[in-house]
Amino acid sequence: MPLVTTTEMFKKAYDGGYAIGAFNVNNMEIVQGITEACKEEHAPVILQVSKGARAYANHTYLVKLVEAAVIECPEIPIALHLDHGPDFETCKSCIDGGFTSVMIDASSKPFAENIEITKKVVEYAHDHGVVVEAELGTLAGVEDEVKVSAADSSYTRPEDVQEFVERTGCDSLAIAIGTSHGAFKFTAAQCTRDANGKLVPPPLRFDILEEVSRRLPGFPIVLHGSSSVPQEFVDIVNRYGGKMPDAVGIPEEQLRKAAAMSVCKINIDSDLRLALTACIRQHFAEHPEHFDPRQYLKPGREAIKAMVEHKLVHVLGCNGKA
Ligand SMILES: [Zn+2]
Repeated sequence: MPLVTTTEMFKKAYDGGYAIGAFNVNNMEIVQGITEACKEEHAPVILQVSKGARAYANHTYLVKLVEAAVIECPEIPIALHLDHGPDFETCKSCIDGGFTSVMIDASSKPFAENIEITKKVVEYAHDHGVVVEAELGTLAGVEDEVKVSAADSSYTRPEDVQEFVERTGCDSLAIAIGTSHGAFKFTAAQCTRDANGKLVPPPLRFDILEEVSRRLPGFPIVLHGSSSVPQEFVDIVNRYGGKMPDAVGIPEEQLRKAAAMSVCKINIDSDLRLALTACIRQHFAEHPEHFDPRQYLKPGREAIKAMVEHKLVHVLGCNGKA
């Protein structure tokens, strides 16, 4: 099947109590690792491209890589999504350039301005058969060019969501309930420690999610910044010369709970980066004589595939839903 929008995916996910994985793509090995996992697990998938990815790999290369994945995996629905579109022009360029979904992130703007920008993108997108994700509330953390300090982050106000969705016409909404971008989501001071001394992050605000869902029945909600930063991969990075002390993410069981509720799309990027980097660091430590990129990118691609498979089955619950 050709590239799809997320409309059908989200409807089934909402009704079925699971979420679709949205994974960021930056090169061929990442596209292949993700889509091979989804093909084997019969899972629908959203491949997303950030402004930083377009700057790194070039729009055309990324679109063509995703189109190749569509040809290689004809049995699974694949959507191509712009992650954190900063303005109308970037969204328009992706809509004109083959994307089936875009995010307009005007969440740092005042409420009225966020509505105005989002509405403009929605009108253009819908005229071209493309769907739009918007954002209300501000996540902390660092993602490409989006950097927000914990002090400037703010939870989504449930009393705002109905008016926002009605006035903008957006198709899905990213909300802030305590997830955060990057591999260092929380400082040690924000966390508690468990019996083994490991950092335990503050729990997600499920009360906010429940209130948002009550006000927007049937409406798909999106969680950004939802990597779990598994300790075993942080340990491999650190054991083989890396430096990621106190990296901490969102516990997977909390994401599973959100996926069973109104959350239909969960963004996972840092965990894939971590899997690839851990694998390559270990590979070089064990094979210092290797210099053919295929020697370390092949296991790196396998590491991404294994990480995605784990997420599909144990976090998102979307395996077998294609
Ligand atoms: Zn994000």
